[in-house]
Amino acid sequence: MKQFKMSGVALADENALTAMDKTLVPGTGSAVIPVALNKDGRYKKTATPTTLSAEDFAELGREVEGKIVELGQRMTCGDISAQPYVSGAKSPCKFCGYGAVCGKNY
Ligand code: SF4
Repeated sequence: MKQFKMSGVALADENALTAMDKTLVPGTGSAVIPVALNKDGRYKKTATPTTLSAEDFAELGREVEGKIVELGQRMTCGDISAQPYVSGAKSPCKFCGYGAVCGKNY
């Protein structure tokens, strides 16, 4: 089951969380969503937040939407430069079969 556990963030809403994982009760961590509850029922704090309030989720959605619009506008203006996400020495280009198309031949 662990390999199917989702990463990312979930809405900090008890009804939504327990609907996604009916086994989630205070003092436990979920096996399927990135949320754990303290014994008092509050969300367990982790180094990387795993829950967002409805307001923060809406803000995140607006940020993502703005980024999509920005990317679409850049593409329609002719900017189709390959800008893969690179983290330190990790690059998706090492595993990608389209290097000859985008020009990033590794
Ligand atoms: S090699 Fe693949 S992942 Fe890298 S920039 Fe080109 S298309 Fe994107």
